[in-house]
Amino acid sequence: MHHFHYVGQKLHCEDVALDAVAGLHGTPTYVYSARTIEDNYRRLISSLAGLDVQLCYAMKANSNLAILRLFSNLGSAFDLVSGGELRRVLAAGGATKRSVFAGVGKTEAEIKLALESGIYGFHVESEPELARINHVAGRLGVKAPVAIRINPDVDAKTHAKITTGKSENKFGIPLKAAAAAYEAAARFPHLAIRGVQMHIGSQLTSAAPFIEAVQKVVPFVEQLKQLYGIAYFSIGGGIGIVYQDALASGDAAWWNAKPEGERPLTPEAYGAALKPLLAPLGLRILLEPGRFMVGNAGVLLSRVEYLKRGQGRNFLVVDAAMNDLVRPAMYDAYHEIVPVVRDTGRPALKADVVGPICESGDCFAKDRTLQTLGEGELVAFMSAGAYGYTMASRYNTRPAAAEVLVSGSRFELVNARETFETMLAGEKIPAFLKS
Ligand SMILES: *Cc1c(COP(=O)(O)O)cnc(C)c1O
Repeated sequence: MHHFHYVGQKLHCEDVALDAVAGLHGTPTYVYSARTIEDNYRRLISSLAGLDVQLCYAMKANSNLAILRLFSNLGSAFDLVSGGELRRVLAAGGATKRSVFAGVGKTEAEIKLALESGIYGFHVESEPELARINHVAGRLGVKAPVAIRINPDVDAKTHAKITTGKSENKFGIPLKAAAAAYEAAARFPHLAIRGVQMHIGSQLTSAAPFIEAVQKVVPFVEQLKQLYGIAYFSIGGGIGIVYQDALASGDAAWWNAKPEGERPLTPEAYGAALKPLLAPLGLRILLEPGRFMVGNAGVLLSRVEYLKRGQGRNFLVVDAAMNDLVRPAMYDAYHEIVPVVRDTGRPALKADVVGPICESGDCFAKDRTLQTLGEGELVAFMSAGAYGYTMASRYNTRPAAAEVLVSGSRFELVNARETFETMLAGEKIPAFLKS
């Protein structure tokens, strides 16, 4: 459920008409709904009520400082994957002492910064990484809190580029080798074994792979508790969202109308499935959702530049492109595209919705049926709050989009559109080319 809906003809985010946002801040612009994020947060936390749960929002999904502060105000900590993300948490006033640091390639400088910030746990992906963290902790005269990422070899049945829990993926240590990895960790003098971690993939729309993975590792987690007195079990993120019927899924009625077997995973179903497996462990449970928290809480606003009518194919050329929202080009992802001002009286138009970049891959949708739209009119790409802005690039020297946060009837620019001055600031022409 989310807070994007039509009021009369106009698409609103909460109580704000989106054409007004585009009028003020231009396009392409990402618009986020604070209330949707708050609802997602509370629903997920409630689904595991009774357990000692810490939500560590996977900030790579959307790391705007305003979004991070919103999470921090709700009581969330963060799952971060780089020194840059750690600096964002610090800048947003987030709790590094409850946050965790993941990723297969942590550098010495990043490890040092995380230790100095009092990180709650390093999620370790290999034995050489244990040695490196031990080395840096020794130099600082501290003990580094670690948890090893277990790869449970479960097929998350999602897109190949976002599955992470199969043995052929680069992530984690196989369950069979995990006991030895913990023994190695215990021998390092500057490491403190704090927990255990797993994450099997992204955009999972059923509870079954989560159940399978948790069931597979629970006996090992119990052993770790006995042997090392671990404090926590992080079960990762991966809860999927609705892309296909994104707008309709804002309404509770859409969910209620779905027969049980066809309903996409809800936080309530996720919690209900996992709680009986997790409760007997008596450990703190860390959740690391990214996409679920913010995905349906954001749209990308874009303006139509041209309607190019071709032979047998129409192209709706918009001012957003694959550099702003790469998911369709990168993952063949579907985003629902809706008019910001709806006019049901107009004829339907079947078109490919494309951006202006010089790549055939710069295509958001093929053969999509929309209301007929023309130059200057606005569209919204739904479910664009996760892995949208954070994956943006500057390809074709296109400045990064603006970002706006809405709360009730208030809205504010939380990231100004990038300027060409800042884009070019680091570049220079060397003396040997100047004659
Ligand atoms: C990316 C990632 C997440 C978040 O995944 P979502 O599918 O966005 O929930 C959580 N944990 C780890 C270790 C990750 O790499």
